[in-house]
Amino acid sequence: MRSLITRRLLSTVANKSKVKHVAVVGSGPAGFYVSQHLLKQKSVDVQVDIYERLPAPFGLVRYGVAPDHPDVKNVEATFTKVAKDSRVRFVGNVAVGQDVKVSELRSAYDAVVLSYGAAKDRDLGIPRENSKNVISARNFVGFYNGLPEASGLDVSLDCETAVIIGLGNVAIDVARVLVTPIDELKETDITEAALEKLSKSRIKRVFLVGRRGPIQVAFTIKELREMLHIKGCRPCFDSKDFQGLTSDIVSGLQRPRKRLTELLFKSVREGPTDKQLPLWGENHSKEWHLKLLRSPLEIHADDSDAVEAITLGINRLVPGSKDEWTEAQGVEDTGLKERLDCGLILKSIGYKSVKVEDGIPFDETKGIVPNVDGKVEATDGLYCAGWLATGPRGVIVDTMTAAYKVGQTITNDLENFSDTKTSVGGYEVIANLFKERNVTPVSFQDWEAIDEKEKELGEISGKPREKITDVQQMMSHIKDDS
Ligand code: FAD
Ligand code: NAP
Repeated sequence: MRSLITRRLLSTVANKSKVKHVAVVGSGPAGFYVSQHLLKQKSVDVQVDIYERLPAPFGLVRYGVAPDHPDVKNVEATFTKVAKDSRVRFVGNVAVGQDVKVSELRSAYDAVVLSYGAAKDRDLGIPRENSKNVISARNFVGFYNGLPEASGLDVSLDCETAVIIGLGNVAIDVARVLVTPIDELKETDITEAALEKLSKSRIKRVFLVGRRGPIQVAFTIKELREMLHIKGCRPCFDSKDFQGLTSDIVSGLQRPRKRLTELLFKSVREGPTDKQLPLWGENHSKEWHLKLLRSPLEIHADDSDAVEAITLGINRLVPGSKDEWTEAQGVEDTGLKERLDCGLILKSIGYKSVKVEDGIPFDETKGIVPNVDGKVEATDGLYCAGWLATGPRGVIVDTMTAAYKVGQTITNDLENFSDTKTSVGGYEVIANLFKERNVTPVSFQDWEAIDEKEKELGEISGKPREKITDVQQMMSHIKDDS
């Protein structure tokens, strides 16, 4: 009997001779990092086809990352290198689940990786949540970042007070965009439509509202530091929200929570530094308030159904538990309430994944495709990665680390597939379906033509690019011979 090692070697040699076809659904960081990992493996030859709903690649790197954080977008260069590898095909403008079924991809490919992210919102579940100018941060981010379906967002900045619910980095991003001087935003790739709206904005006050306490805020130190250094905008804290928090507690926290809390605590107790005061200006035109221990209870709307206020329930940290003064500490309702008048509410309580098609295993409670190291439970040849696999949390580096693991799971499986378990046709089969269905896929070269046009348009207004927010318009810039 052949030893396990010999059998594995033979199977590797057999597999090596046969290119394995992998379909990746979604061209965000997860899709690209899984692809990159697969390409690096010597044991299996792969052809990777990356299917993307939009004509533009890069997912939230293009449509999520804040316009004033251009350095974060440097990862696009790495993704472009992956996309230009001769073993990779970018298939944009194809919504999997609609234009082609996951089941069809599974019949044509050795492995299918679902990495289509989290493109919906979580709801607060409170009265009048659907009033006018109660908007999800996801939509607002999409609006200023040029996401086609958010380009016509009906948002009014014609009010003095905005309330943002949630204390994650997305909440901080949208708060920063609302209070940053327009001249600074003009130099970014923020859309022209957003610039126009922001230049007429009357917003003076932004409340960032969190349901738990100072040690449970979900934003990170870099983002807080930026919020403390915005020209013409003063941060405001309520020392009551920090009651019970002592220097001893802070110094006992683990990094990076410790550094974040130190900065927050210092800002509350010591007030502005010599550098901050002149930056904010004596008659600062704007301010942002951190409001902790407040749960949204009810939204109030006027006769035209436009938001006019929000009622917040006042919480206190549950004392005496093992979680006391940790990130896990919960809150309880004090029964007290307060009303905050406002003309805009942005809900920033997290994104949500959805099932693109029936038949895909999906955990509705967790909002993920259930998986073990990326292998979708109870299936063969089906994998998932990124926020669809982990839930909507984690920065790009976290998504990368997890995606590499998924890439390894797939490699292990592909190495062990017997020669009979091979794909049936790969992209050729799917391309025929596109012809029958009048689907026009966009290649990476096509995207580069769009990219070039955006940069050209940006030059006119002194921006890195002017994003084209209409899919038809994007398609019109594709060169015929590409
Ligand atoms: P996504 O990036 O969402 O990619 C999913 C892709 O799938 C998209 O291109 C989408 O169009 C595509 N897709 C969706 N449905 C389909 C379908 N049916 N068929 C085909 N394709 C489909 N991290 C940082 O490190 N720094 C930051 O500054 C930062 N800023 C952020 C700002 C915001 C507003 C958000 C929400 C997140 C931010 N993150 C940041 C986190 C980072 O964006 C995520 O970790 C990462 O994008 C998750 O990658 P993903 O590939 O799982 O999802
Ligand atoms: P997040 O970090 O999970 O924050 C969500 C916030 O919403 C938390 O404060 C949470 O409070 C609150 N929340 C949830 N449900 C709520 C409810 N029903 N009522 C009131 N508050 C509620 O999510 P995110 O801000 O969407 O960010 C997602 C990920 O992207 C994060 O990992 C983030 O770091 C990353 N990101 C990074 C950057 C950056 O690096 N600059 C920028 C944007 C996003 P509880 O803690 O009490 O649940």
